[in-house]
Amino acid sequence: MSQPEVLQIGGATDEMRARLDAEFKVHVMSEIDDFDAWAAEHGAGVEAVMTNGHDGVPAKVMEALPNLKVVSGYGVGYDAVDTDACVARGIKVSHTPDVLNGEVANTALLLLLAGLRNFRHDEAWARSGDWETSGNAPLSTSPDGKTIGILGLGRIGQEIADRMAIFNPTIVYHTRSKKDVPYTYYGDLVEMAAACDVLICITPGGPSTNKIVNKQVLEALGPSGMLINVSRGSVVDEAALIEALDSGKLGLAGLDVFEKEPHIPDALKTSDRTVLLPHVGSGTHETRAAMGKLTVDNLLQWKADGTVKTPVPECAHL
Ligand code: NDP
Repeated sequence: MSQPEVLQIGGATDEMRARLDAEFKVHVMSEIDDFDAWAAEHGAGVEAVMTNGHDGVPAKVMEALPNLKVVSGYGVGYDAVDTDACVARGIKVSHTPDVLNGEVANTALLLLLAGLRNFRHDEAWARSGDWETSGNAPLSTSPDGKTIGILGLGRIGQEIADRMAIFNPTIVYHTRSKKDVPYTYYGDLVEMAAACDVLICITPGGPSTNKIVNKQVLEALGPSGMLINVSRGSVVDEAALIEALDSGKLGLAGLDVFEKEPHIPDALKTSDRTVLLPHVGSGTHETRAAMGKLTVDNLLQWKADGTVKTPVPECAHL
C-alpha cells in the first residue's frame, strides 16, 4: 500500500525524520527548487503538512495542495497558519501545547535576571579587564519583591507566574477574560503597565494582539520598568519600543522575538538597555524533542484514525 505524502516546511530533528520516513513519503520544502513544477507533479498527492510557528503554511502552498487534510505544527503558536481557510476546507490543524511551558517560562526568567542584574554589562566588565582598571562594576537592580505583570495568563503565562514565585513578586495580569486565579486582574493594559516593574508578554500573535504593547503601554511601564517579550514580535510596536528605549522613557527590554525575524533592528542590537535572544524560548534539546514527538504523534494518529491528539481550538470540531 502506498504511504501518505507529507510536505515538511522548516526543520525537523533526526528523530522526527526517522519516524516520519517510516510512515510517510516525505517532501522537504527547502529541497524543492521550482515550487510550481513540484506542485504540478506532486501537489495533489500531498495530504499532510508539517510546519513550524514561523513559516506556517503560505497561501500559495495551501492552494497548491488541493487534497490537504492535516497540518501539524511544530510549536504551540499557530498565528502563521490561516485557521479560517483550514476550517473552510475541513483541514485539521494541530500544535504542541504544554510540553514547552517550563522552557519558555525559564527563558522569561533568564531575560528578567539578565536585564535587572545587568548581566551583559557585568560579564563584559569581567572579560574586558575593566574590573582591574576601573574598579567595581556599577550596581544593578534586585529581581526580588517586584510587581510582575503578565500579558496573557494561559498555559505558559501561568508557568511563568509559578516560576517567578522564587522572587516573591506581586503578580498581576491582563487577558481578555478574567481568570480564576489569585492574582489581580487588570482589564486595561496601560493601567496594568503603570502598576508594574516588569511586563512579560506571553499572548498568542495574530490580529487581536497586533502591537497591543504600544507607545502608551511602554511609557506607562516607565523609565525604571522592564519589558520582556517571549510571545511574538507582532505583539509589541517595535518602532515605539526603540523610541521609548532611546529616549529613556522605558528602562529595559528583554526580547526573544522580533517583528521581522530573523532581522533585528540595529537600534535594538546597539542599545545598552536591551537583552536579546534569537527566538530560543523553547530551544533546548529536551523541549524540542518533546515538541517533535508530539508533532509526529499528531501525524501518526491522523494516519491511523483521521484524528489528531492536540488540535488547535479553532479546528477541534473537525
Ligand atoms: P494559551 O492559549 O494557553 O494562552 C494565551 C493567553 O493569552 C490566554 O490567557 C488568553 O486569555 C490571552 N490572550 C489571547 N488573546 C489576547 C488578547 N487579545 N489580549 C490579551 N490577552 C490575550 O497559549 P500558550 O500559553 O500555550 O502560548 C502563548 C503564546 O506563546 C503562543 O501562542 C506563542 O505565540 C508564544 N510562544 C513563544 C515561544 C518562544 O519561543 N518565544 C514558544 C512558545 C510559545 P484570553 O483568551 O482570556 O484573552
